[in-house]
Amino acid sequence: MELRSSIKYLKGVGEKRAAVLAKLGIFTLWDLLTFYPRTYEDWSKIYSIKDAPLNENICIRGIVGMPCREHRIRKGMTLYKTEVTDGEMLLDITFFNNPYSAKKLEQGKEYLFFGKITGKGYYRSMNSPDFVETDGSGGIRPIYPQTAGMNSRAIEKLVKSAFEYGEKPTDPIPEEIRNSYCLMNLSDALQNIHFPQSADMLSEARRRLIFEELFLLELGLLRMKTKSRQSTAVSMKKDYTDEFRSLLPFELTNAQKKAISQAAEDMLLGTPMNRLVQGDVGSGKTAVCAALIYNCARNGYQSALMAPTEVLAMQHYKTLAKFFENTDITIGLLTGSTPAAEKKRIKASLKSGETDLVIGTHALIQKDVEFDRLALAVTDEQHRFGVNQRNSLHSKGQNPHTLVMSATPIPRTLALIIYGDLDLSILDEMPKGRQKTETYLVTPEIRERAYGYVKKHLCEGRQGYIVCPLVEEGETSEMTAANALFKELSDGFFKGFRLGLLHGKMKSADKKAVMDSFSSGNIQLLVSTTVIEVGIDVPNAVIMVIENAERFGLSQLHQLRGRIGRGTEKSTCILISDADETERLNVLASTNDGFKIADEDLKLRGPGDFFGSRQHGLPEMKIANMMTDGEAIREAHTAAENLLKKNPALSGEEFALLRNEVNRLFSGGSMN
Ligand code: ADP
Ligand code: MG
Repeated sequence: MELRSSIKYLKGVGEKRAAVLAKLGIFTLWDLLTFYPRTYEDWSKIYSIKDAPLNENICIRGIVGMPCREHRIRKGMTLYKTEVTDGEMLLDITFFNNPYSAKKLEQGKEYLFFGKITGKGYYRSMNSPDFVETDGSGGIRPIYPQTAGMNSRAIEKLVKSAFEYGEKPTDPIPEEIRNSYCLMNLSDALQNIHFPQSADMLSEARRRLIFEELFLLELGLLRMKTKSRQSTAVSMKKDYTDEFRSLLPFELTNAQKKAISQAAEDMLLGTPMNRLVQGDVGSGKTAVCAALIYNCARNGYQSALMAPTEVLAMQHYKTLAKFFENTDITIGLLTGSTPAAEKKRIKASLKSGETDLVIGTHALIQKDVEFDRLALAVTDEQHRFGVNQRNSLHSKGQNPHTLVMSATPIPRTLALIIYGDLDLSILDEMPKGRQKTETYLVTPEIRERAYGYVKKHLCEGRQGYIVCPLVEEGETSEMTAANALFKELSDGFFKGFRLGLLHGKMKSADKKAVMDSFSSGNIQLLVSTTVIEVGIDVPNAVIMVIENAERFGLSQLHQLRGRIGRGTEKSTCILISDADETERLNVLASTNDGFKIADEDLKLRGPGDFFGSRQHGLPEMKIANMMTDGEAIREAHTAAENLLKKNPALSGEEFALLRNEVNRLFSGGSMN
């Protein structure tokens, strides 16, 4: 069978099981072969019952000494018991409500049993062991991620059958490269990742598969980077960023000044700037990009600023319009819901070069958005976009300078992988006069008191946020939940105050009206979903209550909390939660440092989730782990660099498959 064939034709599958496998993302034979075990059981080391360590998963060999007996201990609970010996000691075996397993054991026959032994003195027992006849497979056995309707053993059988009937995979890594890095061939690696001949073979198989994944990734990223490096960009004649400072209502922090001058210097060169500005929420990234946009406009070129949400795009529009109000810089706002006529007008004026700056959402990367002389492409909160989206904005100009901004702290090595040769500016200093936001964790019983505290602030002329809980599966929609809370509060505790409601499903004009009214101070209290998570900036808002805080990730809470503490006033964030896991939320109460919080998040949630493709837009890794495989990343990086040096286009028959795989991995992007 071809490896591309549908899994349903594999012996032992059929339509029904194919549907179950589809839930695991397995559609073809190849998908099954690359559905890697989650972990392994070591059935290769066999203990004697006497010497086996207690309470650990281990394997013993024994002969069944008696037929299985049934003990009904109460309604709905039947035990099946038997006894096994290895010639030295007895072991009691018990199955719970599982006649099927129990009855398979035949008296007088020898089996391998895998499970945990418990016991005292000379008594030993094992509950619900897994077992095989001794002439069956021992060795290291795979444990797969399971799904309802398919357990690990069933998947194991299918993988065996896939190896039996499937054709041999062709190796995308040419032999020469395999030899120089001492890598197993693909076919052996797949065999050993599923059914390792030994622990050593398993680790070699892993090494080989991880290498391949990272090698493909690096090849793709390096090719993008080389393309950009070889290209020439518009160089700015003069650096006007000093002039920009006089437009600001505040003095820039040293960190901001440094980031601006680093970027402005890049833009004087003939190669495209490629810079990441990383700074915690509230560190003032907007002013940095504004300085560079100003610089670009004064040099006679156009810029684009892309934000992940409409609300944020609108806010940037307002902020920059204010910065530039006494200049002749023209700005357009382009989002999904800009009226058609207005869209047409803005697009025309971008194409003619009349508009100097366009701010918007994904709408900016649509095909029909064209520029006359785009020289600077800025992406805000870039972690919300994929690599491909960033590249699409970039492709709107002749190698424009690129600036990406992010509040998500990413370890430097990882940043280098994700962003290729991106240069880094870090805003590690908050604007003067900021006070630490106090964060409290409270139980729902004292919600009223928390609200009372909010009310006190509103009466003093301050503003605040109430953040609605995340909607969980099976609950009503986000919109309904937000509406309900808004109504409850407006008619109840906050009656007489000016409340506003903001959620993602609102029409854009309504969103804008609410945001305008909130930033002008008319709305006192904004009841909102996480749409305010990124970027919203209303310095007079000094208090925030987050309902059901346990439903949010730590980094997300930190981002939300970043909406307050933006002025010189002291701010307070109240997390309401009735969950027991206070330890996690207490991290927020104890620090305002985004890096530390991200670290904790990482520890608690695991890297897979944190660096899931949603976070960085990279292709998903099946086996490599960006956080722990640092050594492998470096190796793959060097290997990719060396290969591209010799063969930049990956031309030649022996690289055909590799070339294809790289393209497939980055398909949809600007690779070719
Ligand atoms: P973020 O890095 O989260 O995008 P913003 O650019 O939204 O931060 O800035 C946060 C707030 O701080 C805004 O109200 C902005 O006007 C203000 N701000 C930025 N830089 C300074 C500064 N150097 N001094 C005082 N306030 C500043
Ligand atoms: Mg921002």
